[in-house]
Amino acid sequence: MKKLAISSFTLLVLGFAPVALAQTNINSGHWDIAAHEHDGELELELDNHDLGVEAPLQGSTISYNFGPNPKVDVTIGASNLGLLWVSPASGEQADAMSMPFIGFSAEELAAPFTGPVTFTMTGFSYTGSGTGQFYMFEDEDIFFNSTASPGSYGSFSVNVGQHGHGEFGFSHAGLYSITLAASGNNGAPVGGEPATYTFNIVPEPSTYALLGLGAVVLSLMSWRKRTPQGRDHSRSTMSVADELSRNHAKHSAISGTATESRLGES
Ligand SMILES: [Zn+2]
Repeated sequence: MKKLAISSFTLLVLGFAPVALAQTNINSGHWDIAAHEHDGELELELDNHDLGVEAPLQGSTISYNFGPNPKVDVTIGASNLGLLWVSPASGEQADAMSMPFIGFSAEELAAPFTGPVTFTMTGFSYTGSGTGQFYMFEDEDIFFNSTASPGSYGSFSVNVGQHGHGEFGFSHAGLYSITLAASGNNGAPVGGEPATYTFNIVPEPSTYALLGLGAVVLSLMSWRKRTPQGRDHSRSTMSVADELSRNHAKHSAISGTATESRLGES
């Protein structure tokens, strides 16, 4: 999946740098949610920090497959946020974990813009099982908190010409829709339209394994019905392993296709 994403972007960059992409699915690389000035307003985009590629924030999806990485018990200052999957804290860690490294950028802004550009979280929704909670934090500070009341989800600021990163925490697998708006100052206060993007938190492999196991049990049950008695037992044990690996292959194939078609739309 990672190879596919990189090769597409590389081709685009070689041909037409810098390139504006349509809504896109991001699952690797260093990207910043960036404020750009358009017609006197601050518009939000996703900028690739290394490749010079820009995509609209609105409608784009950022995917984290946490794989075998466990949730961790997160305490920030005096607040215990509970068990969360936590996004990589650096670009190197993100590459090692095959995940994206997502920050916030005011690098595209210059004078007369001065001081901080503030990214305010104005909306939140979650689709999945359980009660999905989303946070962004760094050291002792919680910047975004989806469990706060609407209107108080929080904000994160970076200075003009800079980009900044924190860590994201997610309590459950599922889709987290986050709405952000940027504000700054170019001699007078400047705001802009909010934009909504989605974090896709992919279930850990044990969930896939359980789904796969369910399918194996079902297919074994029907296989036993179709099979005459007296089959040797070691054979059926082998076919469980066989079915398990086939099931994993099936899941990989499905997620690969989904990524490809999302990229195809862009
Ligand atoms: Zn960055």
